[in-house]
This record gives sequence, C-alpha cells and structure tokens, in this order.
Amino acid sequence: MQQVYSSRDLAEAHFVKGLLDMEEIPATIQSGPLQAVLGSIPASPETLPSVWVDDSDVDRAMEIINEMKHGGLAATQAKLTWTCPKCAEVMEGQFSRCWQCGTSRPEATSSAV
Ligand SMILES: [Zn+2]
Repeated sequence: MQQVYSSRDLAEAHFVKGLLDMEEIPATIQSGPLQAVLGSIPASPETLPSVWVDDSDVDRAMEIINEMKHGGLAATQAKLTWTCPKCAEVMEGQFSRCWQCGTSRPEATSSAV
C-alpha cells in the first residue's frame, strides 16, 4: 500500500476515494483513529486523513488525482451541489428539493451545461 493523497478533512478523502472507485481502483482511507487501530503509525490530533492504494495502482491513482487537482475538484463539486435560493442551504446533487424548506431545485442557474 502507498499513500497517494493527503487531505484536509475526511469528506475530501472520501471524495478522492470515490473518484478512484469510479476507475475501479480500490482505495483505503486512513485517518488518525484507524492508524491507531492498525498500530503502524502513532495517532495524534493533527493526523490528517489520507488515501492509500495498492502499489500496482499508484501510477493510475496519481494520474487521476493530478487531474482533479488541476481544476477538477472545484468543478466537480460545483456540479454535485446546489444552493437553495430561499434559505441558502447547500444541497448535494442527488436532492431535487431543499430538505430544509422544501424549495425545488432551481433549473435556470446552471451555466455549465
Ligand atoms: Zn431551503
């Protein structure tokens, strides 16, 4: 196993893992508590979650991650989320209505069609 990505929070680590999953690269997220369980690296409050893949998948994984870093991450996240025009709650892309106030997802705001 090799570390291919070090993220600032667990959500980002899961996002990277999702990208790798789509390319059929099995990835593992390791964070402080998990490392403590594995006993390989001492856990500390500063330990950040990281994404690991098999040695044979490192090259492909790094390629995907580099692509994401070059503008892909923000663009992909923007596509996946939308903001409620009424209460400004940020929703994930699979929701068609605001779970907080029930406002339907606006159709006209998408400029990246
Ligand atoms: Zn709302």
